[in-house]
Amino acid sequence: MLDQHFLIDPRVIGRIIDYADIDDDVVLEIGAGTGNLTKALAAKAAKVVAIESSGCLAKDISDLKLPNVDIIHGDALKVGFPEFDKVVSNLPYSISSNITFKLLRYDFQLGILMYQYEFAKRMVATHTTRDYSRLSICVQYFADVEILENVPKTAFRPQPEVKSAIVKIVPRPPTLNVLNKEFFFDFVAAVFTQRRKQMKNAIINMFQIKSRTIHGSHCDARKIVNMLPRNMMCKRPGELSPEELAILSNMIYEAIS
Ligand code: SAM
Repeated sequence: MLDQHFLIDPRVIGRIIDYADIDDDVVLEIGAGTGNLTKALAAKAAKVVAIESSGCLAKDISDLKLPNVDIIHGDALKVGFPEFDKVVSNLPYSISSNITFKLLRYDFQLGILMYQYEFAKRMVATHTTRDYSRLSICVQYFADVEILENVPKTAFRPQPEVKSAIVKIVPRPPTLNVLNKEFFFDFVAAVFTQRRKQMKNAIINMFQIKSRTIHGSHCDARKIVNMLPRNMMCKRPGELSPEELAILSNMIYEAIS
């Protein structure tokens, strides 16, 4: 998917630049497109590194010969990122999830990123709300996230079919007490794919589905469920806070280790 919806509203571009509060920073841009945002970033940043997968678009921006802009022609999911202070982009929406988790593996100060509105709502959602999901928990594990504004379709050309939103991402050390991060993410993924089930059934199914990969899968799933806090077992995944999910994940991890 090309995801080529270019941001043409100078007021939105101006606000993105203000939100990014650029001051002598190295800025990473994912999907430079025709360079509308790239040029505005370059006017403020010490350096912009812009990654663009389209050969034609990457060449067009290179031809502008902006002195403090490095263009990388490639797939942002595949190329390694240089060191950067901030990431500011009107993202290709089809890679929203993968690119966000890739970014969160890097050490940076601030992200100002345009996403599809529905995706943005799931990123920032808190528990007991409808949009609370695996995405909310996993993104918020690494960063504080906030929707700064909704952006109308008319700000783009061609206009996308979906609504958009600008999200602020501020990475920080995890605040959740998690014994094993990979196990926690797998656990969250497993129970949220069964979000209508009560936790006790979701966990039993998880053991069945993952019987080959879960370390210590010989454990009796029912026995483990019986030792978990009973008040949490009757709830659905979306009714548990990240802290409660971390408690369960830690207890299960300890039981099977
Ligand atoms: N930043 C420009 C703007 O705001 O006008 C363009 C934004 S457009 C939504 C996304 C851009 O990302 C397109 O130019 C598209 O070619 C590029 N793109 C799509 N998938 C990509 C990928 N995997 N890696 C790098 N660029 C990608």
